Amino acid sequence: MADLNELAELLFPDVTKTIADLEKEYPARNLPEGAEVTRFAPSPTGFLHTGSLFTALIGYTIAKQSGGVFYFRLEDTDTKRTIAGSADELISQLAVFGIKHDEGYFPNGDEGKYGPYQQSKRRDIYRTVIKELIRRGRAYPDFCTTEDLEKIRAFQEANKILPGYYGVYARDRNLSVDEQIARVKAGTPWVIRYKSQGDHDKKTFFEDAIRGRIDLQDNDVDVVILKSDGLPTYHFAHVCDDHFMHSTLITRGEEWIPSTPIHLDMFRALGWEAPRYAHLPVIMKLDHGNKRKLSKRKDPEAAVSYFLETGYPPEALLVYLMSIANSNFEEWSIENKELSIKNFTFSLKKMSLDGALFDGDKLNYFSKEIIAIDPVDSILKKVTDWSEQYDKVLHEKIMANPAYFRKILNIEKERAHPRKDYAKYSDIEPLTRFFFEKDYAEIVKNGLPFNERYSKEFLSSLLKDFADKMIYGVDESTWWNSVKEIAGAHGFALSNKEYKANPENFSGSVSDAAEILRIALTGGKESPNLHEIIEILTEEVVKNRLRALA
Ligand code: GLU
Repeated sequence: MADLNELAELLFPDVTKTIADLEKEYPARNLPEGAEVTRFAPSPTGFLHTGSLFTALIGYTIAKQSGGVFYFRLEDTDTKRTIAGSADELISQLAVFGIKHDEGYFPNGDEGKYGPYQQSKRRDIYRTVIKELIRRGRAYPDFCTTEDLEKIRAFQEANKILPGYYGVYARDRNLSVDEQIARVKAGTPWVIRYKSQGDHDKKTFFEDAIRGRIDLQDNDVDVVILKSDGLPTYHFAHVCDDHFMHSTLITRGEEWIPSTPIHLDMFRALGWEAPRYAHLPVIMKLDHGNKRKLSKRKDPEAAVSYFLETGYPPEALLVYLMSIANSNFEEWSIENKELSIKNFTFSLKKMSLDGALFDGDKLNYFSKEIIAIDPVDSILKKVTDWSEQYDKVLHEKIMANPAYFRKILNIEKERAHPRKDYAKYSDIEPLTRFFFEKDYAEIVKNGLPFNERYSKEFLSSLLKDFADKMIYGVDESTWWNSVKEIAGAHGFALSNKEYKANPENFSGSVSDAAEILRIALTGGKESPNLHEIIEILTEEVVKNRLRALA
């Protein structure tokens, strides 16, 4: 009678290594006590999802804070979904956020002693381990065709039985070794399944580093571990790779919680110590009152590229993600009056458990704070670089006169309470249009929102006086006195209080006069500091604009 060794040789004749050989090749890491080895393990299926950036940020932060290692493993076993070039794109996008791995897959080749860091290049490792599982009777070839599997499923459905390939429904689980060998020799196609020893009527549990004890139904499904294309499934690749790469903590999405019993069962079968798990909350969105996952199809903010294209400073998104990761972060950042997340002590224990809700207003809040305190030369450079890539119109304006644009960006900046109206770089162009003659002409053509109680003649003479009599090139209070003087001569009260006491005696208050001036120069009722605007526009331009309206 044939034995399992024979079957293992027949299935993997070229595999000569053993697990013991692999253990020697990939020895334990020499790291200080408490140092965590974490990883980011994306599938190269297109773009960096906001949830993946979140996962990467957490893995990276934990490794850095503990003096450990953060590595990058490319999970490209689903060849149908792989999109060429997307792994390199992922890495360059992570770099924009300052998330750089210490070892792993890099566009120019692997770095590190635990590679290859690309699953499609680790076939021999998987096959070595599987060969041994076959010998130990913990894995077996399954010869079912798609139709066979469909039949099993249809039977289970018709009889209201829990679906899946398990127990008596695992058709090829108990074939004799002779039969298995005969079928392999006959050339029947096969996949390899893991032989579970679980029982779905029993409970199992594990301690999640975020959620604490999680009780689950035990797994008894014989999952596929090696597909017909010779590549492993996620379950098996995870167990193998995280063992030989010596991950200490698996930070992954909560969608993997139900599969964890499968993974723990395999770790046990192999006699390996399982890493700890931290299942991260999925980022959700409120849609008509219902919570749902951020969707690639429906939500632009599901893709990190959206934030980069719209011109959010990368730190803003990072700070925002950290605020959903740790509820105490926001308080900390306010108390510390600075938003560098590097100094914040992240803790898995403080992670919120239910799906984190994406909150655009909060992101805007952080982003405004960050843009506000960024010194003018730094912000000028960032906006210039951003616009070169994403906003040609703005870029041309900046390049035509960078010094002029610098002044515009510097309005109300270098002060204790800087302006906070830019949430993203794409807000800048619309808010600064009036500084440019061509745009200003367009604004005027569309009509200016002067208060209707002022007649055309009244506005005309007021604007003419502003043009002729306002003082330029002086400090703000001297300028303001000249505005007041002109306003007074046109019947405006010099203070709101004075105006309110006797409104019938006045054309309005001086602030109404200033509003007229503001509208005439900027096209709108709201703008940052008018004196700064006038000085940047220059006396000549201001006079031209006012006279043209008078
Ligand atoms: N490739 C898996 C995914 O993208 C990785 C999960 C994990 O980190 O283990 O979901």
